Amino acid sequence: MNVRRPGVRELLRGCFALAFFSCRRRSSRELVPGRVGRRSGAGSRRPPDWVWGLAAALLASVAMNAWAVETVLFRRNNQEQTIVGRVLVTAKDGGVLLLARDGLLWAVPPDEQIRISRDDAPFSPLSREEFASQLLRLLPAGFEVHETANYLVFHNTSKAYAQWCGALLERLFTGFTNYWQRRGFQLSKPEFPLIAVVFADRKGYQEFSREELGEAGEKIIAYYSLMTNRMTMYDLTGLEQSSGPGASRSRMTTGQINQILAHPEAERTVATIIHEATHQIAFNCGLHQRLSDCPLWVSEGIAIYFETPDLSSSKGWKSIGAINRARMTQFSTYLKNRPPDSLRTLIEKDDRFRNPQTGLDAYAEAWALTYFLLKQRPKQYLEYLERISRKKPLLRDEPAARLQEFQAVFGQDLQTLDAEFLRFMTKLR
Ligand SMILES: [Zn+2]
Repeated sequence: MNVRRPGVRELLRGCFALAFFSCRRRSSRELVPGRVGRRSGAGSRRPPDWVWGLAAALLASVAMNAWAVETVLFRRNNQEQTIVGRVLVTAKDGGVLLLARDGLLWAVPPDEQIRISRDDAPFSPLSREEFASQLLRLLPAGFEVHETANYLVFHNTSKAYAQWCGALLERLFTGFTNYWQRRGFQLSKPEFPLIAVVFADRKGYQEFSREELGEAGEKIIAYYSLMTNRMTMYDLTGLEQSSGPGASRSRMTTGQINQILAHPEAERTVATIIHEATHQIAFNCGLHQRLSDCPLWVSEGIAIYFETPDLSSSKGWKSIGAINRARMTQFSTYLKNRPPDSLRTLIEKDDRFRNPQTGLDAYAEAWALTYFLLKQRPKQYLEYLERISRKKPLLRDEPAARLQEFQAVFGQDLQTLDAEFLRFMTKLR
């Protein structure tokens, strides 16, 4: 079967949306949240400046009345829009970061605002039916919704593939939440249904994702967007090339799909979907906060820790915490020239992840550090995760503060910890 196998660079780029908080462009189809066309163009490899600008000028005050509903009327690109939601952050200059009822985040700077009015009625997310009808209007014609306990899977591919995705995501969700809860981390129930959009083919996916990812979308097979809170991907069975839409795929069973995607060559492709899905769950169950300064080594380390597919069991997720062979190989190669301050630079800043020259090694080291801490320092790691989970949106930490926070939990002596880390990793087989 024709399953495309991504290179390692592609796997890294699979996380583009998260690492860069998804760059976006204005679309005629969808009013993408955020401010467009200013300083950060699509494809930019920096977080959109307008988002951080909102907080930088001002230090953001975090919402006083987190449950009240605000209606924000604003003008963008000569068009008036109204968003109803919960204000998460109010900047000193009046700019707001708003969580809409469909889970989208909107940053509205003061010069776009026309009127903000508050209603003391409690914030409530859209119902599942409202979610479905709203998103179906934004997607190309031909999409349907497959519902599971935690997910709404929007798809224009076969029902069997949507069911296969839904079942995979639910098993991951259960595996993920059980894993942390057993370790004493109190996760919350997702406030919104988790949204996965599955295109029948790569072409449709690329056209749709171009607005968020720019040309980089060609290299990415799935992504989770912090702004829309959605995961977007396409049917991996590859049959779209053999016939017209839906023809042979419509006859496929979920068992056959599983068989194709359980093939060793497909493993890394499926891992990308699981990786992105892990981010989505982590940001929706309270392990991290969207747009907070959660260090990338933490969020990426966790996503990689979970990404190895487990397609063999019908329940549970047995591959959690297994050695990730692809990342282990990368890390072993990195060790040959690893700078002595590698641990510090990984913790202090996210730069190494964003640089194409150093990104793969940073991802591998993030996984290795997460693996080591979960196996050897589980209590401290959990304590650290709890601190990270309390971070508020748009508040950035200086490198020194990040390091301090790490040392407050794991101890001041980074050198000894690093030596222990390397000893542990080099003994792994
Ligand atoms: Zn990632």
